[in-house]
Amino acid sequence: MKIEIRDLNKIYPNGTHALKNINLVIESGMFGLLGPNGAGKSTLMRILVTLVKPTSGIVLLDGKDIQKHRKEVRKILGYLPQDFRFFTSLKTWEFLDYSAALAGMKNRKERLKEVDRMLDQVGLLEVRDRNANKLSGGMKRRLGIAQALIGNPKLFIVDEPTTGLDPDERIRFRNILSTLSQKQDVIIILSTHIVGDISSTCQNMALLNKGEVVFCGRPENLVNEAKGHVFKMNLTPYEYEKAKEEYDIISTIPVENGWEVQIVSDLPPDGNAVEIEPNIEHAYVYYMEHKIHADLNV
Ligand code: ADP
Repeated sequence: MKIEIRDLNKIYPNGTHALKNINLVIESGMFGLLGPNGAGKSTLMRILVTLVKPTSGIVLLDGKDIQKHRKEVRKILGYLPQDFRFFTSLKTWEFLDYSAALAGMKNRKERLKEVDRMLDQVGLLEVRDRNANKLSGGMKRRLGIAQALIGNPKLFIVDEPTTGLDPDERIRFRNILSTLSQKQDVIIILSTHIVGDISSTCQNMALLNKGEVVFCGRPENLVNEAKGHVFKMNLTPYEYEKAKEEYDIISTIPVENGWEVQIVSDLPPDGNAVEIEPNIEHAYVYYMEHKIHADLNV
């Protein structure tokens, strides 16, 4: 499967230019879309799931314009929106059964089997008979994941999936995604502002900032960009206060006589700094703040 996004623009009626000339090719496997709040990720996701029309440009799914083939797209689609909510008096299993029926699963016996398999996969089997409205926030989120996954979608789109999940649930969710990404001919698109969500399971990724794609490639390539720009050093409390003004401090660990900090910087900082291997979080800060001078605090 292949998605080609060509010269895509979205201008909302109030004049906000949310997407600016987006060009991307997304192939089978897991694709990560990373960017700060307001970058345009949700807008792009909503266009991909045919809920929002682009102002100009085209999205092709295996060569077909998705706007002209909405039904076909929706048949193969699983979507977890950022603000997944439901108002229902259905029990948890009934809600999922309903989602499965909507996804086109007609055989009731098979559907019920699939519902329980799915509930088990997201860790909700024990509460299958509880009213879906009475689930905790994290459980509701998992039910959202289950409703998007049921019916074996070939195109799975998740917008800010880990919001509201605790660390255990986050890991569980990542595992579900990586299992899914092993399947052949399935595209998973994961949009997030949390750098840690773009794990090694994403083969490719794009960085979005103010409606523009500023990086597209493998996560390792982004990490390579930060090589030679990440340092570790020990600072006294006084030096630490000064360094905070001057550098991007990524992490701070208390040590004897002060702090051990990690710094992202164009040039090696003065003093006892030691260069260290960058990770994706370092790379994100380096790329956004030093290469394209984006404001990450928006
Ligand atoms: P992200 O998902 O990366 O946070 P969004 O796609 O939600 O970004 O938003 C991109 C920009 O478009 C923001 O400036 C946002 O305020 C604006 N925007 C989003 N939805 C609408 C809308 N329905 N009407 C007007 N502006 C919108």
